[in-house]
Amino acid sequence: MELTVLGCCSGMPAGGEASSGYLVRGGGTAVLLDCGPGVATALGARGGPAGLGAVVISHLHLDHCYDLLPVGKTLLTMALHYPGGPPRPECAPDPLPLYLPRGTADLLRRWQALFPVPTLPQLDRAFDVAFDVREYRPGDTVDVAGLELELHELRHGAPNCGTRVTDGTTTLAYTGDTGTTPALDDLARGADLLVAECSLEATDTGPQGHLSGGDAGLAAASAGARELLLTHWTSDDPAWRAARCADARAVYDGPVHVARDGWTDRLEAPRPAVVTG
Ligand SMILES: [Zn+2]
Ligand SMILES: [Zn+2]
Repeated sequence: MELTVLGCCSGMPAGGEASSGYLVRGGGTAVLLDCGPGVATALGARGGPAGLGAVVISHLHLDHCYDLLPVGKTLLTMALHYPGGPPRPECAPDPLPLYLPRGTADLLRRWQALFPVPTLPQLDRAFDVAFDVREYRPGDTVDVAGLELELHELRHGAPNCGTRVTDGTTTLAYTGDTGTTPALDDLARGADLLVAECSLEATDTGPQGHLSGGDAGLAAASAGARELLLTHWTSDDPAWRAARCADARAVYDGPVHVARDGWTDRLEAPRPAVVTG
């Protein structure tokens, strides 16, 4: 399994980096975890959405879903115009499975209708035509070709599920946005890589729900995750990011990585111990 960071910013894009988006390849398919502002551009530079097996949205904050509409319209325009030439209104793409938190699909359908194109009405129905919209519930398990995805409810100002992805050999856990919660243990238990949001300098006890570097390190240690990737940055200052990593390293013995756009990691299962004698 391979992870590529498409966007590592909290809130809006900054410093040339996009908001939340993580491309996971494995099992002969690819899954996009979150689709914040700037992610459609980053995805386009890596083959575009046509190669995806599914998109999973952790929660309906803009920095995690704003580029869904451009991705949907990209799929539609590819079908309508490919391989170039006049529009073919009868054409539609194979719908891409889009997993959304329960109760959010209607909001996105209202959003798509705000941008009418009278000559190509399909473009006003991107979520209905380009996507196969499926609302998930916390605890659901989803199969996408050779990948299995588990949705784990965490603690955030909007209903948010982290995603645990396994290809049968390696496991990646992604938090979306969350405050400290025991549920992080189930999300990340024994994971080869925990991709943890790291928005804050200090532990947040309020209702918004975000992690500090120390919180993320403690979560990785408690869950027995093998490596930790900190992301969802609220500052593009390298020194600030390095300080958050130092906070995590103070409480967690495994490797701690600093997410940046384009950061890629190929996950490998731990090698069995060599028995000699
Ligand atoms: Zn966020
Ligand atoms: Zn959020």
